[in-house]
Amino acid sequence: MQLSLYNSLTRTTERFQAIDEAGQTVTFYACGPTVYDYAHIGNFRAFLNADVLRRTLESIGYTVNQVMNITDVGHMTEDNLADGGGEDKMQVAANRLTEAKKAGTLPEDSEIDPNDPYAVASFYADAFLEDGEMLGMRIVEDAKQSMDCMPRPTAYIEQMIALIGQLIENTHAYVATDGVVYFDVMSYPEYGKLSGNTLDSLRSGEGGRVDMETQSIKKHPADFMLWKPDAKHLMRWASPWGEGYPGWHLECSAMACALLGDVIDIHSGGEDNIFPHHECEIAQSCCATGNTSFAHYWFHTRFLLVDGGKMSKSKGNFFTLRSLIEKGATPAAVRLELIKTHYRSNANFTMQGLKDAQRQIERWHRLKRWLEQHREHAIDARGPLSQAKDKFMEAMCDDLNVAGAIGALSEAVSAYAVEQEPTVTGEGGTLQDELDALHAMDEVLGVLNLQHEASTTTLAVETIEAMLEERITARDNKDWSRADDIRDELLEMGIEIKDGPEGTSWTRVVQ
Ligand code: AMP
Ligand code: ZN
Repeated sequence: MQLSLYNSLTRTTERFQAIDEAGQTVTFYACGPTVYDYAHIGNFRAFLNADVLRRTLESIGYTVNQVMNITDVGHMTEDNLADGGGEDKMQVAANRLTEAKKAGTLPEDSEIDPNDPYAVASFYADAFLEDGEMLGMRIVEDAKQSMDCMPRPTAYIEQMIALIGQLIENTHAYVATDGVVYFDVMSYPEYGKLSGNTLDSLRSGEGGRVDMETQSIKKHPADFMLWKPDAKHLMRWASPWGEGYPGWHLECSAMACALLGDVIDIHSGGEDNIFPHHECEIAQSCCATGNTSFAHYWFHTRFLLVDGGKMSKSKGNFFTLRSLIEKGATPAAVRLELIKTHYRSNANFTMQGLKDAQRQIERWHRLKRWLEQHREHAIDARGPLSQAKDKFMEAMCDDLNVAGAIGALSEAVSAYAVEQEPTVTGEGGTLQDELDALHAMDEVLGVLNLQHEASTTTLAVETIEAMLEERITARDNKDWSRADDIRDELLEMGIEIKDGPEGTSWTRVVQ
């Protein structure tokens, strides 16, 4: 089967063709998390869609050589400006953890020294790997064999320095009067091809904000930082341009090249990575290697919205996998909820959607158990699931039409009455074939092997109190539907609340 895939670089849906002459191996670089905090479910939407793409390729016979970085350096809070700015994100995390340590709210088992940026990064990297495993990311499985596929930029500083040297030699980079090494965007006519920006629009600030501080010393306002000498920076290394740190776009070019080659098949990320991050990666890689292409296919996932809006801590709609599990969600349902909307549309996360996903997974599990019980029962050669499998794969190969694929699977699931003994009989096949077809489809969706039963530990008092607080705020704002949702969510988790003249009280109910 052939995969059609939308390519953000050409803005068309193309027939996927691997670089590998034998057409068997695919090189795939996925931009990973910056480990200065827990990854949120929006981040996971981007990572899980990359995982679904990988699984689809594997299901149609490719071997996927995937790399996902775990960024532990180089990101600044203002890094959508061409040269960074603001604070180092690791410094922000260190400050936050220092405060948490003082307040005694760090997780009990963490021995973390907030002044050690490597320890801060490791703390959140471990949390990311735990979450990624719970959500069934294959790259995290690979990483159990060797962490080479999940590299950290702090281990690739040497390669980044070599890359800068090459760019200077090829006259695509220069040292400005402030000692900072910049990429010279005017030296690369293709700059802007991915994002649709032009050098003129970038000069006027249309394509993004312009850093006023460095504007006068750069050849073009869009020139971006490759190395910044800064002897006081939290994380710094010796280089020919002084002690300092690399620009954040550099890491992905250096690690993709070191681990996958100068030109790769697929590169993925969230939509906000298109500019400046991926635009700059292409410029760096192509100008260093002299190739006309860095990645053949660019795969970008649109943003996840929550209740139709941006996820934000102040709105109380900011979720991590951990926070959802505390509210009684299961990793299987979170995964399904995050992959079920087409990756090129915004997805809207709701608690109701999560509950529907949970119900759907329970149906699949019921059928799976039933098929296992009756696996030897003879049926006609191709039962409903075996037939659905073809439609399922066709939908997946149509630019990852997950909704269409799930539709085909659900229709086949409905053909079975799992409360009864099998009634269909025939020749040429058994229910084992149906079970195999179910598993084959799940190789792509990746939900059936994940935890699908809510944790049996009782809800922590702090969580209940926090949800009650949230309900009070919702009521104060006359957001009755949110207040009702919170009441329902609590009830589902075994907590009944009563409003009275003294305020709100709660009791645990036996479920
Ligand atoms: P970061 O850890 O900030 O570097 O982000 C990791 C990945 O998550 C990047 O590929 C982002 O593009 C992506 N991302 C961030 N927020 C969202 C969101 N709300 N929905 C989907 N992807 C996102
Ligand atoms: Zn990247």
